[in-house]
Amino acid sequence: MRGSVTIVFRYDDYAASLGDSTMEANERAFLDAFAEQGVPLTVGVVPRIEGKRLLADDPERLRALRDAVATGQVGPALHGLTHEALARQGTADSEFAGLPPAAQLERLREGKRLLEDWLGTPVAAFIPPWNTYDEATVDALTEAGFQVLCAALSGPPVSHLQFAHGRYVPIEDATPPLVALPHTTGLPDVQRTARACLRRRGRSFLVCMFHEFSFANSADPLARVYGRTSLAGLARLLQWCRAEPGVELATAAEAASRYARELSDGRVDAARARWQFAARWRRVPVVGRLVARLLAPRALPGPRGPW
Ligand SMILES: [Zn+2]
Repeated sequence: MRGSVTIVFRYDDYAASLGDSTMEANERAFLDAFAEQGVPLTVGVVPRIEGKRLLADDPERLRALRDAVATGQVGPALHGLTHEALARQGTADSEFAGLPPAAQLERLREGKRLLEDWLGTPVAAFIPPWNTYDEATVDALTEAGFQVLCAALSGPPVSHLQFAHGRYVPIEDATPPLVALPHTTGLPDVQRTARACLRRRGRSFLVCMFHEFSFANSADPLARVYGRTSLAGLARLLQWCRAEPGVELATAAEAASRYARELSDGRVDAARARWQFAARWRRVPVVGRLVARLLAPRALPGPRGPW
């Protein structure tokens, strides 16, 4: 039986390049590629970049974003209020993890209000900077009215499920407040992973996170490690996604509202557990990193998935 896969493309750090013309041109080029193919894109936006500059101070880029959101092809996501490193979580920076709950809620509410005022549309999705958050963030997101948390499998769980007698069951009296849609893969692995999803039963979800430095022609030093995609390669990938039977394309908010039940069926918790198991291998010398990469989930398949 041929399965189906919902692919969510997620771009972080919109307009955060602070005057770097190469980054601006690159960003415009790949946003155009998504628009030309009509492929839905979730765009993580920082309203007050590093606490200094409002996105509204750059009217041209705010207008471009507003126009794209108005078409329905781009779904906005709050990507922190300022994207400042205010705390640490393990080895990673965080704007949220470890902050007092009231401070987290205040940041979420202010960021949401700014984006909604500028864009004239509800903002239901949240992408924590550096993908770091804690349990207090999850509660604050619910209270602030967000519907989907787009982070990583390394974060704490969101679902109101517990593992009992060999399966996930709903915790009594849990309200369904928030859906987790963690990223699972990068641009170079989308096609291969989607093909694997299509070979199995049921619907899988694949969330592809990327940045400007994910492109080989980026001037960002991080591109030396992560810049593995060309603009032409992106265009080919989006064309393939459009044409391939069984592939559905959606923004994070669309996927979360359309498939709240599937995304709350324990698959995200199972993928988190698998990610944690894989991460333990990283400490093993020589082969550890390779094994960790092979074991890490690359999609969110239904229960009893191959990853
Ligand atoms: Zn970011």
